[in-house]
Amino acid sequence: MLTPSARSLLRVRKAPFSARRAQTRGRVVAKRAKSKARDPILLTPGPLTTTAATKAAMLHDWGSRDANFIAINARVRARLAAIVNGSATHVTVPVQGSGTFAVEAAIGTLVPKKNKALVLVNGAYGKRMCRILDTMGRAYSAYETPEDTPPDPAEVDRRLAADPELSHVLAVHCETTSGILNPVGEIARVVKARGRALLLDSMSAFGAIPLDLTQTPCEAVMASSNKNLEGVPGMGFVVVRHEALAAAKGNAHSLSLDLHDQWQAMEATKQWRFTPPIHVIVALDKALEQFDKAGGVKGRSARYGGNCRSLVQGMRKMGFVTLLPDRLQAPIIVTFHMPKDPKFKFERFYNSLKDQGYIIYPGKLTVADSFRIGCIGAIGKREINGALKAVRRAMKELGVKSGAP
Ligand SMILES: *Cc1c(COP(=O)(O)O)cnc(C)c1O
Repeated sequence: MLTPSARSLLRVRKAPFSARRAQTRGRVVAKRAKSKARDPILLTPGPLTTTAATKAAMLHDWGSRDANFIAINARVRARLAAIVNGSATHVTVPVQGSGTFAVEAAIGTLVPKKNKALVLVNGAYGKRMCRILDTMGRAYSAYETPEDTPPDPAEVDRRLAADPELSHVLAVHCETTSGILNPVGEIARVVKARGRALLLDSMSAFGAIPLDLTQTPCEAVMASSNKNLEGVPGMGFVVVRHEALAAAKGNAHSLSLDLHDQWQAMEATKQWRFTPPIHVIVALDKALEQFDKAGGVKGRSARYGGNCRSLVQGMRKMGFVTLLPDRLQAPIIVTFHMPKDPKFKFERFYNSLKDQGYIIYPGKLTVADSFRIGCIGAIGKREINGALKAVRRAMKELGVKSGAP
């Protein structure tokens, strides 16, 4: 039997304790509510988290013949070719749409109808180029390696030597399916030595993985506004060798995806042939200004590299295992094997992270059950640490002790 004073002591001891717990719980709820009100952090292959300044740049109206817009368009085009050191030899031809539109436009315009392409496939984006060629009815052969294996430049060389009909090689720079960095420098040298042309889908590498067209010869490099350049989605572009473009008249299978026609019209009138994605271009101009201020490719590559290292280290501490060894991993997006623990349900894991304000990406692999976490976009240490904390909390909620596969 407790004395009244002991009871009151207990109450006193208990009250602040449970109040503290309620407070903590309240804070967690409030924090989650706040993270819901805030835009989510996009840890995906794109579209990505953009800065407030980039978003704010879109809060105006421009006419497509507006002199201000025409100047911005010219500046963006020049800047994009310069990022890959192509200003002296290449021009930027933008196209409306997502990145795939630019890939399709480049293939349709630059690979003549009677020619044959060699497609290097180690993921979904290489396969997509095959589908594009299938749809156009153009001849190709595919050199496919598993998703965790880069193409062997010596094998590319053998295939080019064996088949003189192959005029173009189509390759993916960073295969976003797995996050693997393909050896484009060596591939470009092999292709050039055999006198063929390389079209490079550099969508998820452009701006963050150094590419110098004077060292790595490419006929065309395809990318988009909404990946490492941290603009908003809606515009693809092709940095294409001037002479190849000039020789490509009449090749295209499509009017709206005819890069030669788009280029000719833009050179002649400074305007787009059809309604330009003005807000996207103005936002990209703003994003490029920030890109330059932050040290260009060098700066971006350093920030993404730091993001990737912190992410991988933090996840490994929890037992997660990456698909790729570090030497093949591009600092763009990381594929993790699904944990073995049967309590790990990806959908619940995903939703918990989403509730905490972080969007990750399901896997796209055929070789292994996996999920992906991106390290690109206007994010840094704070966001990666926040994401790791959210992963720890999600694991706790699921009752999963280790991420080991
Ligand atoms: C994102 C991406 C594309 C283009 O995808 P869209 O959804 O059309 O923007 C193409 N190739 C690679 C390697 C990519 O990462």
